[in-house]
Amino acid sequence: MIKVNEIYHSIQGESTHAGRPCVFVRLTYCNLRCTYCDTEYAFFEGKDMSVQQVIDEVEKYKCKLVEITGGEPLVQMDECLELMKTLCELGYEVMIETGGSLPIKEIDPGVKIIMDLKCPSSGMEKKNLYENLKYLKPTDELKFVIGNREDYDWSVEQIRKYNLNRKCVILFSVVFGELEPVQLVNWILEDKLDVRFQLQMHKYIWHPQTKGV
Ligand code: SF4
Repeated sequence: MIKVNEIYHSIQGESTHAGRPCVFVRLTYCNLRCTYCDTEYAFFEGKDMSVQQVIDEVEKYKCKLVEITGGEPLVQMDECLELMKTLCELGYEVMIETGGSLPIKEIDPGVKIIMDLKCPSSGMEKKNLYENLKYLKPTDELKFVIGNREDYDWSVEQIRKYNLNRKCVILFSVVFGELEPVQLVNWILEDKLDVRFQLQMHKYIWHPQTKGV
Protein backbone atom coordinates (compact mmCIF):
# COMPACT_ATOMS: atom_id res chain seq x y z
CA MET A 1 0.00 0.00 0.00
CA ILE A 2 1.05 3.57 -0.61
CA LYS A 3 -0.09 6.58 1.41
CA VAL A 4 -1.56 9.22 -0.90
CA ASN A 5 -2.36 12.78 0.16
CA GLU A 6 -4.27 13.81 -2.98
CA ILE A 7 -4.71 13.10 -6.68
CA TYR A 8 -5.93 15.93 -8.90
CA HIS A 9 -5.87 17.34 -12.41
CA SER A 10 -4.41 20.78 -13.00
CA ILE A 11 -1.92 22.78 -15.02
CA GLN A 12 1.74 22.00 -14.49
CA GLY A 13 3.07 25.10 -12.74
CA GLU A 14 6.82 24.52 -12.93
CA SER A 15 9.66 23.07 -15.00
CA THR A 16 9.97 23.11 -18.78
CA HIS A 17 6.52 21.49 -18.82
CA ALA A 18 4.82 24.49 -17.18
CA GLY A 19 1.45 25.21 -18.70
CA ARG A 20 0.63 21.62 -19.67
CA PRO A 21 -2.40 19.82 -18.23
CA CYS A 22 -1.13 17.21 -15.79
CA VAL A 23 -2.39 14.72 -13.21
CA PHE A 24 -0.67 15.17 -9.85
CA VAL A 25 -0.25 12.30 -7.43
CA ARG A 26 0.83 13.79 -4.12
CA LEU A 27 2.26 11.19 -1.77
CA THR A 28 2.24 11.63 2.01
CA TYR A 29 5.33 12.21 4.21
CA CYS A 30 8.47 14.28 3.91
CA ASN A 31 11.84 13.74 5.57
CA LEU A 32 12.73 17.46 5.22
CA ARG A 33 11.33 20.63 6.80
CA CYS A 34 12.18 23.50 4.47
CA THR A 35 11.61 26.96 5.94
CA TYR A 36 9.41 27.95 2.99
CA CYS A 37 7.41 24.72 2.65
CA ASP A 38 3.94 25.26 1.17
CA THR A 39 2.76 21.65 1.39
CA GLU A 40 2.98 20.92 5.11
CA TYR A 41 -0.48 19.38 4.84
CA ALA A 42 1.19 16.45 3.05
CA PHE A 43 3.50 15.59 5.95
CA PHE A 44 1.06 13.17 7.60
CA GLU A 45 -2.43 13.28 6.02
CA GLY A 46 -3.40 10.71 3.45
CA LYS A 47 -5.11 7.45 2.74
CA ASP A 48 -3.66 4.05 2.00
CA MET A 49 -4.16 2.93 -1.58
CA SER A 50 -2.78 0.08 -3.69
CA VAL A 51 -0.69 0.98 -6.72
CA GLN A 52 -3.57 -0.27 -8.88
CA GLN A 53 -6.06 2.00 -7.08
CA VAL A 54 -3.80 5.00 -7.74
CA ILE A 55 -3.57 4.07 -11.40
CA ASP A 56 -7.34 3.63 -11.65
CA GLU A 57 -7.77 7.14 -10.22
CA VAL A 58 -5.18 8.61 -12.61
CA GLU A 59 -6.85 6.97 -15.59
CA LYS A 60 -10.14 8.77 -14.89
CA TYR A 61 -8.59 12.09 -15.98
CA LYS A 62 -7.66 10.93 -19.51
CA CYS A 63 -4.43 12.91 -19.35
CA LYS A 64 -1.13 11.33 -20.33
CA LEU A 65 1.18 13.58 -18.28
CA VAL A 66 1.50 12.51 -14.63
CA GLU A 67 3.63 14.02 -11.89
CA ILE A 68 4.46 12.15 -8.70
CA THR A 69 5.11 14.69 -5.97
CA GLY A 70 4.86 15.24 -2.22
CA GLY A 71 5.92 15.85 0.44
CA GLU A 72 8.84 13.71 -0.57
CA PRO A 73 7.57 10.86 -2.74
CA LEU A 74 10.75 8.80 -2.34
CA VAL A 75 10.11 8.33 1.41
CA GLN A 76 7.83 5.50 0.18
CA MET A 77 10.62 4.33 -2.09
CA ASP A 78 9.55 0.82 -3.15
CA GLU A 79 5.91 1.68 -3.75
CA CYS A 80 6.81 4.91 -5.53
CA LEU A 81 9.26 3.11 -7.85
CA GLU A 82 6.63 0.50 -8.65
CA LEU A 83 3.99 3.15 -9.35
CA MET A 84 6.25 5.09 -11.73
CA LYS A 85 7.42 1.97 -13.53
CA THR A 86 3.84 0.79 -14.05
CA LEU A 87 2.73 4.20 -15.32
CA CYS A 88 5.64 4.22 -17.79
CA GLU A 89 4.66 0.76 -19.01
CA LEU A 90 1.10 2.00 -19.55
CA GLY A 91 2.41 4.74 -21.85
CA TYR A 92 2.19 7.71 -19.47
CA GLU A 93 4.72 10.52 -19.55
CA VAL A 94 5.89 10.43 -15.95
CA MET A 95 7.65 13.09 -13.91
CA ILE A 96 8.77 13.03 -10.29
CA GLU A 97 9.45 16.04 -8.12
CA THR A 98 11.94 15.19 -5.37
CA GLY A 99 13.75 17.28 -2.75
CA GLY A 100 17.10 15.67 -3.54
CA SER A 101 17.90 14.10 -0.17
CA LEU A 102 17.00 10.49 -1.04
CA PRO A 103 18.58 8.28 -3.73
CA ILE A 104 17.25 8.62 -7.28
CA LYS A 105 19.39 5.91 -8.85
CA GLU A 106 16.65 3.24 -8.93
CA ILE A 107 14.13 5.45 -10.72
CA ASP A 108 12.99 4.03 -14.07
CA PRO A 109 15.01 5.69 -16.88
CA GLY A 110 11.75 6.62 -18.61
CA VAL A 111 10.83 8.98 -15.77
CA LYS A 112 11.72 12.65 -15.96
CA ILE A 113 13.28 13.75 -12.66
CA ILE A 114 12.83 17.27 -11.31
CA MET A 115 15.20 17.45 -8.36
CA ASP A 116 16.02 20.24 -5.90
CA LEU A 117 19.38 21.16 -4.58
CA LYS A 118 18.33 22.78 -1.31
CA CYS A 119 19.82 26.26 -0.85
CA PRO A 120 21.07 27.57 2.54
CA SER A 121 17.93 29.57 3.38
CA SER A 122 15.82 26.39 3.16
CA GLY A 123 17.60 25.22 6.31
CA MET A 124 18.05 21.83 4.58
CA GLU A 125 21.30 22.35 2.65
CA LYS A 126 23.09 19.67 4.65
CA LYS A 127 20.53 17.08 3.52
CA ASN A 128 21.46 17.35 -0.17
CA LEU A 129 22.57 13.97 -1.49
CA TYR A 130 25.23 15.08 -3.98
CA GLU A 131 25.75 11.55 -5.22
CA ASN A 132 22.38 11.97 -6.96
CA LEU A 133 23.94 14.44 -9.41
CA LYS A 134 25.67 11.66 -11.27
CA TYR A 135 22.35 9.95 -12.02
CA LEU A 136 20.67 12.96 -13.64
CA LYS A 137 19.93 12.58 -17.35
CA PRO A 138 20.08 15.42 -19.91
CA THR A 139 16.27 15.45 -19.95
CA ASP A 140 16.05 15.86 -16.16
CA GLU A 141 15.84 19.23 -14.40
CA LEU A 142 17.67 20.52 -11.35
CA LYS A 143 15.91 23.24 -9.39
CA PHE A 144 17.31 25.92 -7.09
CA VAL A 145 14.70 27.73 -5.01
CA ILE A 146 16.41 31.00 -4.13
CA GLY A 147 15.43 33.21 -1.20
CA ASN A 148 18.25 35.76 -1.05
CA ARG A 149 21.65 36.73 -2.44
CA GLU A 150 23.46 34.13 -0.34
CA ASP A 151 21.31 31.39 -1.91
CA TYR A 152 22.01 32.81 -5.36
CA ASP A 153 25.79 32.88 -4.87
CA TRP A 154 25.68 29.39 -3.40
CA SER A 155 23.69 28.12 -6.43
CA VAL A 156 26.15 29.63 -8.90
CA GLU A 157 29.00 28.00 -6.99
CA GLN A 158 27.31 24.56 -7.19
CA ILE A 159 26.74 24.93 -10.93
CA ARG A 160 30.43 25.65 -11.46
CA LYS A 161 31.72 23.10 -8.97
CA TYR A 162 29.69 20.19 -10.39
CA ASN A 163 29.60 21.35 -14.01
CA LEU A 164 25.82 21.21 -13.82
CA ASN A 165 25.13 23.00 -17.11
CA ARG A 166 26.51 19.93 -18.86
CA LYS A 167 24.27 17.52 -16.96
CA CYS A 168 20.70 18.72 -17.32
CA VAL A 169 18.34 21.71 -17.43
CA ILE A 170 18.93 24.16 -14.54
CA LEU A 171 15.88 25.93 -13.09
CA PHE A 172 16.11 29.07 -10.94
CA SER A 173 13.03 29.94 -8.94
CA VAL A 174 12.35 32.46 -6.16
CA VAL A 175 11.06 31.64 -2.70
CA PHE A 176 7.55 33.03 -3.12
CA GLY A 177 7.12 36.22 -1.07
CA GLU A 178 10.81 36.32 -0.03
CA LEU A 179 12.69 37.43 -3.14
CA GLU A 180 11.30 39.63 -5.93
CA PRO A 181 11.38 37.81 -9.27
CA VAL A 182 12.87 40.88 -10.98
CA GLN A 183 15.83 40.79 -8.59
CA LEU A 184 16.66 37.20 -9.48
CA VAL A 185 16.24 37.91 -13.19
CA ASN A 186 18.64 40.86 -12.92
CA TRP A 187 21.28 38.73 -11.21
CA ILE A 188 20.95 36.00 -13.87
CA LEU A 189 21.34 38.55 -16.67
CA GLU A 190 24.25 40.37 -15.00
CA ASP A 191 26.14 37.09 -14.61
CA LYS A 192 25.08 35.78 -18.05
CA LEU A 193 24.04 32.49 -16.52
CA ASP A 194 22.79 29.68 -18.72
CA VAL A 195 19.82 28.82 -16.50
CA ARG A 196 16.07 28.84 -16.94
CA PHE A 197 14.17 31.30 -14.73
CA GLN A 198 10.72 30.12 -13.70
CA LEU A 199 7.76 31.31 -11.69
CA GLN A 200 5.38 28.93 -9.92
CA MET A 201 2.62 29.56 -12.43
CA HIS A 202 -0.15 28.05 -10.28
CA LYS A 203 0.48 30.69 -7.59
CA TYR A 204 -0.48 33.40 -10.09
CA ILE A 205 -3.47 31.60 -11.61
CA TRP A 206 -5.02 30.76 -8.23
CA HIS A 207 -4.60 32.23 -4.75
CA PRO A 208 -1.10 31.22 -3.55
CA GLN A 209 -2.51 29.12 -0.68
CA THR A 210 -5.01 27.18 -2.81
CA LYS A 211 -4.66 23.42 -2.39
CA GLY A 212 -5.21 20.85 -5.13
CA VAL A 213 -4.03 23.01 -8.04
S1 SF4 B 1 11.03 18.96 0.51
FE1 SF4 B 1 9.17 19.96 -0.28
S2 SF4 B 1 7.49 19.07 0.92
FE2 SF4 B 1 9.39 18.60 2.02
S3 SF4 B 1 9.61 20.27 3.52
FE3 SF4 B 1 10.78 20.84 1.67
S4 SF4 B 1 9.33 22.07 0.43
FE4 SF4 B 1 8.12 20.92 1.98
